[in-house]
Amino acid sequence: MLGWRFDNTYARLPAPLFERIAPAKVRDPRCIIANHALAQELGLDLRAVTESELAQALAGQALPPGADPIAQAYAGHQFGGFTMLGDGRAILLGEHVTPRGARLDIQLKGSGQTPYSRRGDGLAALGPMLREHIMGEAMHALGIPTSRSLAVITTGEPVLRESVKRGAILVRTASSHIRVGTFQYAAALGDVELLRTLADYAVARHYPGISACEGRYLEFLQQVIARQASLIAHWQSVGFVHGVMNTDNMAISGETIDYGPCAFMDACHPGTVFSSIDRQGRYAYGNQPAIARWNLARFAETLLPLIAPDEGAAIAAATEALKQFPELHERHWLSRMRARLDLRTERPGDAELVQSLLEWMQAHQRDHTQTFRQLHSLRNAGEEFASWRAQWESRLRDEPASTEADRVRRMQAASPAVIPRNWAVEEALEAAAERDDLAPLHALLDAVADPFSEAGERSRFADPPPASFCGYRTFCGT
Ligand code: AMP
Ligand code: MG
Repeated sequence: MLGWRFDNTYARLPAPLFERIAPAKVRDPRCIIANHALAQELGLDLRAVTESELAQALAGQALPPGADPIAQAYAGHQFGGFTMLGDGRAILLGEHVTPRGARLDIQLKGSGQTPYSRRGDGLAALGPMLREHIMGEAMHALGIPTSRSLAVITTGEPVLRESVKRGAILVRTASSHIRVGTFQYAAALGDVELLRTLADYAVARHYPGISACEGRYLEFLQQVIARQASLIAHWQSVGFVHGVMNTDNMAISGETIDYGPCAFMDACHPGTVFSSIDRQGRYAYGNQPAIARWNLARFAETLLPLIAPDEGAAIAAATEALKQFPELHERHWLSRMRARLDLRTERPGDAELVQSLLEWMQAHQRDHTQTFRQLHSLRNAGEEFASWRAQWESRLRDEPASTEADRVRRMQAASPAVIPRNWAVEEALEAAAERDDLAPLHALLDAVADPFSEAGERSRFADPPPASFCGYRTFCGT
């Protein structure tokens, strides 16, 4: 009735890659958020059923026709240490094919224990699921590849964390949930044929253009590296800090997945860390490109037996591919930064011009988002800035002629006014989870859905944090 069209290719892969498991029964499912815009893209009509039927369906209480629920197996380096994992609190209902022919995983997060739960309860609390919903919608609106959420359902059951929380299920969509860690899992089993089957599957699903290539596994590695280089540059450009870039949280598709203790940076600083468990700053803002490269090296290792029969030759080819990452990342980053300064041509010295602006922003703890957004009109910001501005204006004289209004319009199309600010996210989560008041959440969702427009009435959401809001920490949803 909702319009599901399932075709579950992953569940037809060899057995060790997943376990069949149904979502747990829950007492009183209620739909807190229904993402009608996403539903429309999926060809689903969430209004075709009653509210109670919708909540039952999206909480996996009545399985939709064609669903074949499984938990996926994977491994991962968590803060550098290798572990066998798997979906411990997520169940893949199946793959929905949209009216435009796109294949999307439909996954329930927080829907009970699975064979991979280890000692975990398989559950999720409302606050972290709402955070994931907000972040996914914000990233999507910013044009950043991401998983999204179709709905957030409260289960009517308690979840025990540091205190008792309201249980919730996030209905998540992603182009797949195949991770670097999925390959690490197959490689750790030591079964090269399983690995090849998984690689062929991932290539067909995400890189169909290279399916028929002779050297497709090396090409696969190169393309995953290229997508991650682009993704991380995009994150960096908006000040996004993922928080837990473990290899199991890095998708082969190049989408952002597994939003845990993530947050957007306010004042510009490379050491920005929000996650309470990241004590060493492994996943700090400025460390993300290096960590992505480290994760990709772990990915490359899994593919070695497929890349070439001779290990030495495979290592040489993979190493060469990995070496491209910094340059690819830098290129994507610079092209985003050029757009922010309205540099439509490329000149030597552009990277230095950007770098000196960033150094000034860091030295003066300038707000990352607001400084870029207001750059065109920023004056009287001290001598150092005046001298940078003079260099920038001189560089702009090399650009094709433009009116000031056009320049401002292009710059604002490249620099968002609204990101989900930590103070606003906290305010929304607290009201929703503790007081059942969804108004702040909806106001924030409306604002982040349209990040590049003049903030106008929503200007509250463009504001940097109040002075009292420093030392912000986020916590894992577990
Ligand atoms: P995450 O930090 O959310 O990416 O999770 C890391 C691993 O721990 C994944 O394999 C999760 O499935 C598992 N996990 C996290 N929370 C729970 C939980 N409450 N119950 C069972 N497994 C969990
Ligand atoms: Mg994860």
